[in-house]
Amino acid sequence: MDWIEIVVGFGCNCRCRVCPAASQSHVPGMSAKEIAHWLEEGRERGAKHVWFGGGEPTLHPDLIRSIERARELGYHRIRIQTNGIRCAYLPFTRRCLDAGANEFSLSIKGADAASHDQATQNPGSFDRLIQGTQNLVATDARVEGDILITSHSMTRLADAVLRFAGLGVGRFTFWLTSLFGTQAKGLEPLVPRMADLMPFLESAFQTADRNGAAATTLHTPPCVLKPEYRRRYVHAGTWKLSVITPGSEPFSAEESPIEGGAYLKTCSGCGMRSNCLGPRKDYLDLFGPEEFSPLSS
Ligand code: SF4
Repeated sequence: MDWIEIVVGFGCNCRCRVCPAASQSHVPGMSAKEIAHWLEEGRERGAKHVWFGGGEPTLHPDLIRSIERARELGYHRIRIQTNGIRCAYLPFTRRCLDAGANEFSLSIKGADAASHDQATQNPGSFDRLIQGTQNLVATDARVEGDILITSHSMTRLADAVLRFAGLGVGRFTFWLTSLFGTQAKGLEPLVPRMADLMPFLESAFQTADRNGAAATTLHTPPCVLKPEYRRRYVHAGTWKLSVITPGSEPFSAEESPIEGGAYLKTCSGCGMRSNCLGPRKDYLDLFGPEEFSPLSS
């Protein structure tokens, strides 16, 4: 294990319909004592890096103290995965950095205020994300963008990359929206068919390249990508990440149905099988298996 992700709570100041954490917002967040316990346990199990997630971790009242504890315990990379809203407030950002946070991954749900705020159902969230991004890129912290792909956002992935690369974000990861764990009804149209997504994803990769940014993709197996883009697929198992959520035992990131795992019979003959987590079950339930076919290598 290299990383632990501590999901400190499921509460959030956005209300994204496709967020699985929203259906667990009634579950109490971790106490400071629990977070400290898992930080210590993580180090004992060999974790070198910690990732604070949620929900929205910046809302947790003990986040700063937990970051300090992570630093005291010797964690090297201390990451906060955030919607960026609280990072718009410079004193808060400074407190995170002073405590020891050195990486931020920012959740980007649209290329502009109209599309992002529609996804988050929080008017003004995009403007705060932009301010938060500007505050962070002005520091020594590593700043990345996690771009959510939905049927609404997919046509403007390249615009999102351009906007945030222009602010100084140097690395992007594309996350395909999933229905796993969501309770809201009628979300199926938000999941795009991969065949429809590919031209837009390829354009976004090219935009990242032109702007000197790295770009990778989760949840789109290698066989749906053109050969020249297959190296951009990220198998979540390569993170060596153990995830801890409130009230449950740790599990490996690659065990989550959100990462895939619904291999087809034909996958056993695929040359990429060991580097691929397979499609997600909820995707296959929507669109069937036709898009996935074994690769020779
Ligand atoms: S055929 Fe299966 S194992 Fe091979 S790349 Fe596609 S989904 Fe992955």
